[in-house]
Amino acid sequence: MVLDMVNRIFRKCSECNRLFAMKKTDKKLVRTEDVEILETLTQPNLRGGIETMVERFVSGKRNTYEITYSCRFCGAKYIKNAFKDMKKYKQN
Ligand SMILES: [Zn+2]
Repeated sequence: MVLDMVNRIFRKCSECNRLFAMKKTDKKLVRTEDVEILETLTQPNLRGGIETMVERFVSGKRNTYEITYSCRFCGAKYIKNAFKDMKKYKQN
């Protein structure tokens, strides 16, 4: 896990071990699904002026992307999945 993080920071290629080698070369949307997103709202308390935290679920969409990284030295490819949650509507 830590190694994975270091590799990401230095964009190290796992094939040729060179640093700053991996470049994002492709990103495609592979899946869209409905999700519930936990949202934290702060509500000002009119009497005391102290904000209260309220948690609730809102409906949203999760887009899953397949991101391809390629090594610019040896051409090795590394594919990673990433997802991004988006609320269907915005509060306020
Ligand atoms: Zn390489």
